[in-house]
Amino acid sequence: MTTALPPVGRMLARGVGRRCARCGGRGAFFTGWYSMADRCRTCGLAWRRNMEGFQLGAAAINIILTGGSLLAVMGVGVALTYPEPPVWPLVAATSAVAVLVAVVGYPVSYTVWLAVDLAMNALSDDEIADADAHRAV
Ligand SMILES: [Zn+2]
Repeated sequence: MTTALPPVGRMLARGVGRRCARCGGRGAFFTGWYSMADRCRTCGLAWRRNMEGFQLGAAAINIILTGGSLLAVMGVGVALTYPEPPVWPLVAATSAVAVLVAVVGYPVSYTVWLAVDLAMNALSDDEIADADAHRAV
């Protein structure tokens, strides 16, 4: 496999689509919606990348997704119903969206964070050799 990574925009798009940022492999390292393998099932990349705190970045992405959707729903709801926004229906709608995005966005937050991490920290030769040794045939 080539050592070059795709452009950042493509890696982010792959992450949003729950694909491996490196190879575009479907499902990346997820074996279920919440269950993960240690490596991308296509290219063999170890998604933790031997870095402590990798999952903290994924959690941050999930918080950004959830908070952003919460603000969007609240902002649109208030804008559409101004000057008298219905408070409790808006609270219910934003709460439902926040829970839905947090749950549905869980794997996406990991794949997007992998894209961001790969954009910031290029793959080392050791990571590439390790991934190639574990790559699906
Ligand atoms: Zn991959």
